[in-house]
Amino acid sequence: MDNRQNSIEINKEDFQKMGYQLIDTISEFLDTISEKPVTTSQSPKELQDILGQSSLPKKGIPADQLLKSTSKLLFENSLFNGHPKFFGFITSSAAPIGALADLLAASVNPNVGGQILSPMATEIEKQTISWLAEFIGVSPSYGGVLVSGGNMANFTAFLAARTAKAPKSIKENGLSNTTKQIISYCSKSTHTWIDKAAILFGHGSKSIRWIPTDTSNKMDMVSLEQTIKADLKLGHQPFMVVGTAGDVSTGVVDNLEAIGAVCKKYDLWFHIDGAYGVPAAVITELKETFKGIEKADSIALDPHKWLYSPLEAGCTLVKNPKHLIDTYSSHPEYYNFSLTEEGGSLNYFEYGLQNSRGFRALKVWLALQQIGRDGYVKLIKEDIALSEYFAKLAEQHAELETITQNLSITTMRYIPKNLNLIGEERDTYLNTLNETLVNTIQAGGQLFLSNAIVDEKYCLRICIVNFRTTKQDVEESIEIIINEGKKAHNALLSN
Ligand SMILES: *Cc1c(COP(=O)(O)O)cnc(C)c1O
Repeated sequence: MDNRQNSIEINKEDFQKMGYQLIDTISEFLDTISEKPVTTSQSPKELQDILGQSSLPKKGIPADQLLKSTSKLLFENSLFNGHPKFFGFITSSAAPIGALADLLAASVNPNVGGQILSPMATEIEKQTISWLAEFIGVSPSYGGVLVSGGNMANFTAFLAARTAKAPKSIKENGLSNTTKQIISYCSKSTHTWIDKAAILFGHGSKSIRWIPTDTSNKMDMVSLEQTIKADLKLGHQPFMVVGTAGDVSTGVVDNLEAIGAVCKKYDLWFHIDGAYGVPAAVITELKETFKGIEKADSIALDPHKWLYSPLEAGCTLVKNPKHLIDTYSSHPEYYNFSLTEEGGSLNYFEYGLQNSRGFRALKVWLALQQIGRDGYVKLIKEDIALSEYFAKLAEQHAELETITQNLSITTMRYIPKNLNLIGEERDTYLNTLNETLVNTIQAGGQLFLSNAIVDEKYCLRICIVNFRTTKQDVEESIEIIINEGKKAHNALLSN
């Protein structure tokens, strides 16, 4: 087997050659990203035709050929969230260092499930997590684990909360042996992850209490406490309250301080879903908005959102990381190494749901260092300022109405001049018009935004987590929205 011939190895010279070529192609792609449409307008059928229907090749195809054709395939037929006019959902432009980090991580390929398999990578993940805690301003005693994204970060915390607060026997006996219903609380604007978590972990979606929001779209604290009291009276077992730090639709941050106080009073787990917004806690001017964050038992945050990591990177932070080990650690006979509780080593498989784990920490760790704390403060502040600018321009324009502006999310509506409708008819027409407008703008490729429904108003929603966006992009986007709005209005009228 000295010279084992195989089809998988790429020798040094070939690897260099195709690697340099690929990097050249990617550099050109990134450099010209703003000149392309934000997204392709092809239908799934058209994309399938481009891809072709051939079956799996029986014989291999040379790697350099594949890399060339695949770059072209992707650059010509994708949505580019790195485009300066991409403002949809909460998906950020990716820091280029992340692409290089992923290449490096995949080359070393540590399995960050156990420290024995990933000696330095485990330490790097640990440092990344402690830097994230430091960044958002909570105690460095917080520990945690990197996961694929916000949903997983919230799931990971949900189960840890249950282990900590629900009857001790639950791990062995499961939910069916508990007589009490185990209840979680969150505001109406909480992301759908909580539905999935309640189903996944066997609580059922009826175990969630969706607390109404007040006029500023924050969780209504009076209603929260009343609901907890009512549940206790009925013999249920409340276990956690979720506060949102930057809700998906409008970017509002719940009153974290007040939620923390309620959790303390009733001995409940306080979880913060900060998947989008919590990095903004670093901004001095926003300290008041995020007050109470340090009271959280756990926090979900997404480096692949406002820290500009390429997908996927989420993080669960837990004030006392022992709760993660209590929940997730098991001691199988086939792992000969010392476990986290016993020795000096740290095995991330004991901290969450995954067993084998990739080195997603590297891209986050490198970006945190390349950009630095001050760099991130500047980037996040600029995103917020651009979002405010968007809201201001809309406010000044006769045909636009700003509905909300929080963190880096602005919602607005297009309202045509001389609209002769009143009352319900007007509301219905504006909803139809703005819904049409979101769809045509998304398909058009000039800019990309998404929607929000605020007080039953269908809105255009612009979320800026994009370090490539400039003031000019904002100004041009306003023009595009107005032009497309006029067209959509005329088209609806002539129907
Ligand atoms: C984005 C988001 C999620 C879901 O995160 P993913 O990374 O998409 O899984 C959950 N909660 C909030 C508040 C979010 O903004």
